[in-house]
Amino acid sequence: MLKLSQPNISEDAIDAVSDVLRSGQLVHGVESDAFEQELAVYLGCRDVVLVSSGAAALHLALLALDIGPGDAVVVPDFTFPATANVVVLVGARPVIVDVLSDTYTLDPMRLEQTLLNWSGPEKIRAVMPVHEFGCVADMNAINRIAKAHGLAVVEDAACALGAHQGGQKAGTLGDLGCFSFHPRKTLTTGEGGAIATNSPEHASRLRRLRSHGMEHKSTGIHFLEAATNYRLTNFQASLGRRQLPHLDSWIRTRRKLANTYFSALRPLAEKGLIKVPTEVEGHSWQTFMIVLNKAFNRNEIIMKLRERKIETNLGAQCLSKIGIYPGKNALTFIGPDLYSHGLALPMYERMTPIDIELVVKELTIVLFGKNK
Ligand SMILES: *Cc1c(COP(=O)(O)O)cnc(C)c1O
Repeated sequence: MLKLSQPNISEDAIDAVSDVLRSGQLVHGVESDAFEQELAVYLGCRDVVLVSSGAAALHLALLALDIGPGDAVVVPDFTFPATANVVVLVGARPVIVDVLSDTYTLDPMRLEQTLLNWSGPEKIRAVMPVHEFGCVADMNAINRIAKAHGLAVVEDAACALGAHQGGQKAGTLGDLGCFSFHPRKTLTTGEGGAIATNSPEHASRLRRLRSHGMEHKSTGIHFLEAATNYRLTNFQASLGRRQLPHLDSWIRTRRKLANTYFSALRPLAEKGLIKVPTEVEGHSWQTFMIVLNKAFNRNEIIMKLRERKIETNLGAQCLSKIGIYPGKNALTFIGPDLYSHGLALPMYERMTPIDIELVVKELTIVLFGKNK
């Protein structure tokens, strides 16, 4: 089976984890402190706060901004549900806005329309653009609109570590940037996540929030607010640290593989059977998702490809179709379409161009078989 994605854990990373386990320093320690600093250098931001998952990062970002009951947060329709779930978890309301059909990211024009037409009763306090699949949302436009309306910007960069826009890294373009180190992402610590920020106030609040609301002072431990435990372990950090030096070269390989997909898929795209994603500068290609022509049953295509030993999947969820988010939103069209017809193809840095040709060959057979 050619897998959809494969974690890239080297022997020296496994050794580093064993060393930490033998050291007995399992929660915070040298490795987690170093990983935070190395990530901050890599991203070009002041502080990085490690946490236990991408969802934990998003949750703490909203708590650090004091977003809660009576507030609302704009989220894109096409994403992983964690983006909206954390809004509900802090007692606020997610306001779902459609995405763009070419980049699959938040549509700035519809964001602006939503803000201009908003009549409450909640107060919109923040916008959470998602850098879907490693494609950075249009942050120039989103930041400009957010500023004009007094909103905070929380980037859901869960799948975009290493992506950039205009040379500035994803996760450092808004007020707070959230990352995931889940095995489906390019760099993994099993479970894990991080928040990037340039604000020392946010950083110290986030450190407190991830650790029971505790602060260590010269007078001892103080409990300053009610919070839970969202810490990453020292051994997970050691796993992440060993991958970080390789990340840029992995992303370069993924860009080359994406280019191989673009050329190999051209005949199918020219016949109108599929649409390929738009090539955007700084895309980190965590996922390569095409959109099938509506004539195809996407789930059937996934099953047929599985029979031919190619693992594919739907790309992301459509929040407006889930039905657990309160309140009425403007209609969306692109999100539901990407959800129903999107097909994520195998993509990981240890694939070869020959693997890509094989995926496209099998996809072509399956699509033509269906169309006859
Ligand atoms: C993976 C992902 C998350 C969740 O990250 P976890 O580490 O699994 O909690 C949230 N948002 C987006 C866009 C993601 O891709």
